[in-house]
Amino acid sequence: QFFSREMNIRAVERHDLETALRLALDRDEFLLHYQPQVDIATGRIVGVEALLRWQHPRKGIVFPSMFMDVAEETGLIDAIGLWVLRAACTQNRAWQDAGLPPLRMGVNISARQFDQPREFAKSVNRVLSSTGLDPAWLELEMTESVLWKTAEESIQVLRRLGKNGTRIAVDDFGTGYSSLSYLRAFPVDIIKVDQSFVSGLGKDPEDSAIVEAVVRMGQALRLQTVAEGVETAHHLIELRELDCDIAQGYHFARPAPADAVTPMLRAGRDWFKRA
Ligand code: C2E
Ligand code: MG
Ligand code: MG
Repeated sequence: QFFSREMNIRAVERHDLETALRLALDRDEFLLHYQPQVDIATGRIVGVEALLRWQHPRKGIVFPSMFMDVAEETGLIDAIGLWVLRAACTQNRAWQDAGLPPLRMGVNISARQFDQPREFAKSVNRVLSSTGLDPAWLELEMTESVLWKTAEESIQVLRRLGKNGTRIAVDDFGTGYSSLSYLRAFPVDIIKVDQSFVSGLGKDPEDSAIVEAVVRMGQALRLQTVAEGVETAHHLIELRELDCDIAQGYHFARPAPADAVTPMLRAGRDWFKRA
């Protein structure tokens, strides 16, 4: 009697989703889409971000916002996250083996996956050695909520991964706890300016000011800055003006399956030159 009817329905739905996610793992229904990241100075693709999709047998493509909460609450994210890491590293290695210019591969990591940092690092190392991917081409994207818990153990683990060349990016920068001390404590290499600020570039003076402040801070701390959600040429012009390093967004390409991204990598074109 503590549950309202609505809550009960929600609980049932969650339970169904959990069952469906387990099945999805068994049936290999997950896949990755890749979104190019473009170097603003050269116009070349220098990396991609791996984004999880679920090819549902009836519903079609399901986005992470529909299932990530349940995956995290139930702990299924550990198995799913490992699958993502392996698939992303395998794909990156395959592109390199095909003779394409090497790319950084961004992989999103949830807080839960990093609960046991040592176990996490072991998985990363295992995946790197089994796929034969040089750690320098792997980038782990973590949100501020993962990094702000300044536990000594996690710092050590990230340092060690960093020594091997793997980079750490702070995802959705500016939307989390606004505690900047983790930038000092953790071996962070990259900050990704959240798309909610980028979308107001040139329109909303406050958003523009925030993007500028984040990019300047990144430069001062010698971190690379990536702008997320770059949707228009106008955004890009503003970002170039600010000397932001890398841009990612629909203006260049939507996330797409590897087959669709390969020709873009092969063309190796300068994104800013008119064809
Ligand atoms: P994120 O890591 O911040 O990823 C960026 C999101 O913005 C992606 O949504 C991407 O499709 C979308 N996006 C890219 N360019 C644009 C643009 O120009 N405009 C707009 N409006 N959106 C753009 P997506 O793929 O739905 O992923 C949502 C979130 O789900 C991700 O946010 C990430 O936090 C999480 N996620 C995705 N894949 C994974 C994964 O493999 N593991 C974990 N733990 N989380 C994941
Ligand atoms: Mg991300
Ligand atoms: Mg983000």
